[in-house]
Amino acid sequence: MCDYSFEAPARVRLEYYRAGQELFVNGHITGRVNGRCARCVEAYPFELVKDFSLVLVPRCDLPAEVELNEEDLDLSFYEGDSVDLSPLVREQILLALPTRPLCRDACKGLCPQCGANLNLQICQCAAAVGDPRLAILRTLKVSH
Ligand SMILES: [Zn+2]
Ligand SMILES: [Zn+2]
Repeated sequence: MCDYSFEAPARVRLEYYRAGQELFVNGHITGRVNGRCARCVEAYPFELVKDFSLVLVPRCDLPAEVELNEEDLDLSFYEGDSVDLSPLVREQILLALPTRPLCRDACKGLCPQCGANLNLQICQCAAAVGDPRLAILRTLKVSH
């Protein structure tokens, strides 16, 4: 389970312009996020930076075929005279969050035996269990 929280409200910079019925939105989101590592379940902060471009078209008269110049443009819809961008911003933030957060790439995670955080300490479990590949050697009887 991934849970994230912002240390402070995310900063969102939006620029938009209208061309006919279409609304072009460029956004830049930055924020400091507290994540929880999927391996060692330690909380860790990281910097979220997300740029996005959206094209909003009226929901009622969506053209049958929408031609987009750039593939990375996302198409969204608006209704009425006012546009509430906050759900779109929220969606962009969700897209920017890693699905498998790791405090660091080389995170060693938790020991499956004793639950020790292997980034912070080396527990004795691995030593006690021994290398399973070596265990087979102990059962070998060598005849002379
Ligand atoms: Zn970790
Ligand atoms: Zn252990």
